[in-house]
Formats: sequence, structure tokens, C-alpha cells
Amino acid sequence: MNKQKVVLITGAGRGIGAATAKLFAGKNYAVCINYKSNAEAANTVAEEIIHNGGKCITVQADVASEPEVVRLFETIDKQLGPLSVLVNNAGILRPQSRLEDMTADRVNSLLVNNVTSYFICSREAVKRMSTRHGGSGGAIVNVSSGAARSGSPNEYIDYAASKGAIDTLTKGLALEVAAEGIRVNCVRPGFIYTDMHADGGEPDRIERLKPIIPLQRGGYPEEVAEAIYWLASDKSAFSTGNYVDITGGI
Ligand code: NAP
Repeated sequence: MNKQKVVLITGAGRGIGAATAKLFAGKNYAVCINYKSNAEAANTVAEEIIHNGGKCITVQADVASEPEVVRLFETIDKQLGPLSVLVNNAGILRPQSRLEDMTADRVNSLLVNNVTSYFICSREAVKRMSTRHGGSGGAIVNVSSGAARSGSPNEYIDYAASKGAIDTLTKGLALEVAAEGIRVNCVRPGFIYTDMHADGGEPDRIERLKPIIPLQRGGYPEEVAEAIYWLASDKSAFSTGNYVDITGGI
């Protein structure tokens, strides 16, 4: 009998992460749902997965904190077993602002939450997955953003730059661990219906921008989850260091 694969999805209580957790659970993965503060949302995702016959745990951990990331991975080791897939998804957005109004504190918090977190989660995953360390390989999927290409002028250049760093992390790490059984790829969504736009100060941002999206609509978290799942699965076995844009054509 095949052993059940294990996936960690950071920031899986809401939005894209929650849709991804449900998709992987439906594909017979044991899922770790990580969240930072909204336990109720994470528990709701877990209850749905368990109700549908899936296996999951919820783990509170701030992925911007190195000790909390270490505890997160140790919890997975103990409760679910060897990790097969890491989805670096947790991310934050600050209210829309021009660059001349940005403080160093704002930029630093963006970078710690959106970049350092992906580095330390990837480090813990590589230590477990790499054949160099006795692991059996695996896949890492990073959630970047179309903002890495657009730069998000007049809205959030800091956020866009953090996602540009994720594109570079994806390429560099993919090449670093390619011969060690680990594939590293990236999805770059744009204009997805989640709570994140409210954090940016404009809950209806997608409605405003719809006319400039070639497909004339926003995307759904489930549509991003499908690409993440494909990049984590053996169906994409010849892809590494690659990017999948899910932006409605923009
Ligand atoms: P969301 O609905 O705002 O959800 C964000 C999730 O991340 C929440 O579950 C939150 O936990 C978690 N989180 C944030 N900081 C965390 C931390 N330090 N430690 C652990 N968990 C943390 O966001 P989303 O729209 O689904 O975004 C998911 C990813 O897609 C992000 O990387 C985002 O940049 C990217 N993205 C989104 C869009 C879009 O249009 N929505 C477009 C491009 C890229 P709590 O629930 O506990 O707060």
C-alpha cells in the first residue's frame, strides 16, 4: 500500500491556502494547515477536510519567526511523518501607498513576512527532503504574484518587490537542489478574490480593475490551487525553477 504523502501549506486558514489545503486533502495527502492568528478559520478548513474523510492537523505558527518555523516542522515530523510537499503561501499586504510615504518598519515587516518566511520554511523542508540529507525528495511550490512583474506602482511597490525576491528564490533554490530530488516551482497569481485586498485598504479592488483584465474577471482561490497541485505532483516531473502565471491574461 502506498504511504500517504504529507503537505505543509503555510497560511492555509483562508484564501488561496485554504483552497489548496482542501484540494490536497481530496487527493489523499495528509495536510498541515498552518495559520498565524485566525484559529477559527483554520479549524473550519480542518473540519471540512475531516468531514470529507481526509487527514489534517492545524498548527499555529508565525512563519516570520525562526523558532516558530522550527517548532512547526518538528510538529509535522511527530504528528504526520516525512514531508513530501511544502507550499510557501502565507503572505501579507499593507495599505496602498506611494513609495515616498513608506517607512523602513513597513518595508522590513513586509520582507520578513513575505521573504524571510519562505527562506526558513524552505530550509527546514530541504533538510528533510534532500537526498543529500537522507531524505527521499519532494517538491516546494512558492506563491509569488503577478506583482513581481508589474511592480505595483502607486499601490505597493514593497509587496511587489517581496514577490520579485520569491521569483529569484525559486530559481536559485531549484538549481541548488535539482540533483537532490527536490523540485522548486512558483505560481504567480493576480487579482484573486480573497480577504487580502481589504488588508491593502480596498476590498473591492478587483471590481475596479476588472476592465483591464483580458478575461474580464478576477480569479478564484481554487483556480490557483489547481496550479499549485500540478506543480507539486508528478505530472510536472520535468518542471523546476519555473513559473505559472494565473492572472487572467494580464
Ligand atoms: P489571505 O486571504 O489574506 O490569507 C493569508 C493567509 O496567510 C492567512 O491564512 C494568514 O493567517 C496567513 N499568514 C499571514 N502571515 C502569516 C504568518 N506570518 N505566519 C503564518 N501565517 C500567516 O491571502 P491570499 O490572498 O490567500 O494570499 C495567499 C498568497 O497569495 C500570499 O502569498 C499572497 O501574496 C499571494 N497572492 C495573492 C493574490 C490575491 O489577489 N489574493 C495575488 C497574488 C498573490 P491568519 O488567517 O491566521 O491571519
